[in-house]
Amino acid sequence: MLLLLDFDGTVVDHDCLATIAEHFTPGVFAETEGKLDAGELGLNEVIARQFAAVDATLEELLLFLRGLDVRVRDGLPELVDFCRERYIDVTVVSSGFEELIHPILLGAGLDLPVVANHATFGRDGAKVTFVDRPICSVCGDRCKRSEVTARRHGQAVAYVGDGFSDRCAAQAADLAFARDRLALYLDGLDVPYTPFHDFHDVRRGLATYLEPTPGRSARPA
Ligand SMILES: [Mg+2]
Ligand SMILES: [Zn+2]
Repeated sequence: MLLLLDFDGTVVDHDCLATIAEHFTPGVFAETEGKLDAGELGLNEVIARQFAAVDATLEELLLFLRGLDVRVRDGLPELVDFCRERYIDVTVVSSGFEELIHPILLGAGLDLPVVANHATFGRDGAKVTFVDRPICSVCGDRCKRSEVTARRHGQAVAYVGDGFSDRCAAQAADLAFARDRLALYLDGLDVPYTPFHDFHDVRRGLATYLEPTPGRSARPA
């Protein structure tokens, strides 16, 4: 089994990416989020436009995030230990930027592999380099569905997310954990998922999936 974790709003309790864009370029943020919701722009185009207008250095952005008191959701170290004991690889797959994610993870004592976009931040706006992903035949964007399909190698995949960027990946996974807007979206499609508040919920959900309660097995006695 493989466990993939979204970052913004999932690993951490804030959507760092959206909060930065909303703070540093509120006009562009409002306009592009509206177009994203209306299906007029893809997520990567929205991120590129927003961050082209964010005129701050990496140091300034990290300082801004520190001021927000961004916290890693409870139970992540326990979940990582649980997975390590069972040879389950844990990877953070984000539509955000590795430059912002790694310092937060390391600050929480977590050194997890991260697959995310890259950016060069500065006074003239950020230059974004996106993760090289194929175009998704379902949403038409270079979404995180391919992280599930390309990494599974015959294994089951569990995916944990909260928002727009997780829609396709959560549906492609064998087991989805969802909260907030992702949960509402999956509700609307009648796609099954396990709700979560923190990573203790995810750990318990994985344990149930891996070791079904005796007597509740689908196999006839
Ligand atoms: Mg998210
Ligand atoms: Zn997609």
